[in-house]
Amino acid sequence: MRCPFCHAEDTKVIDSRVASDGYSIRRRRECNQCKERFTTFETVELQIPHIIKSNGNREAFDEQKLRQGMVRALEKRPVSADDLEKAITQIIIRLQGLGEREVPSSLLGKLVLEALKNLDKVAYIRFASVYMSFDDIEEFTKEIEKLRLDKGC
Ligand SMILES: [Zn+2]
Repeated sequence: MRCPFCHAEDTKVIDSRVASDGYSIRRRRECNQCKERFTTFETVELQIPHIIKSNGNREAFDEQKLRQGMVRALEKRPVSADDLEKAITQIIIRLQGLGEREVPSSLLGKLVLEALKNLDKVAYIRFASVYMSFDDIEEFTKEIEKLRLDKGC
């Protein structure tokens, strides 16, 4: 890390400790050139990554859009708004946990599919049929087979 005083590239950490809030690390650094000292903080980045669409365009993560997509899949299904909100929160936490600046929309799609699979199988199939790529079709077919077996028909 560059020295903020003389802009030399050569600085060293002389002390490192967990900050009082417990969520960040405070580092004292010293510049090898001008001997000035400065402090840096390392914190967890809780940004939601941008979404890389299949055409290569980037867009900011849109919670409203995610919700709309899931609501559409869950239309007339016995899933409470509360359970839907919990699922959305889980998806967001997982996106944040990736620690990436941007992720492909296919990854977001997979997270939504997993969430719907736990909430409601019909919604899962609705969403999958709109969303899935050919690569996923085999897995999807297996899933439908499993549902058939569960129902015994
Ligand atoms: Zn310096």
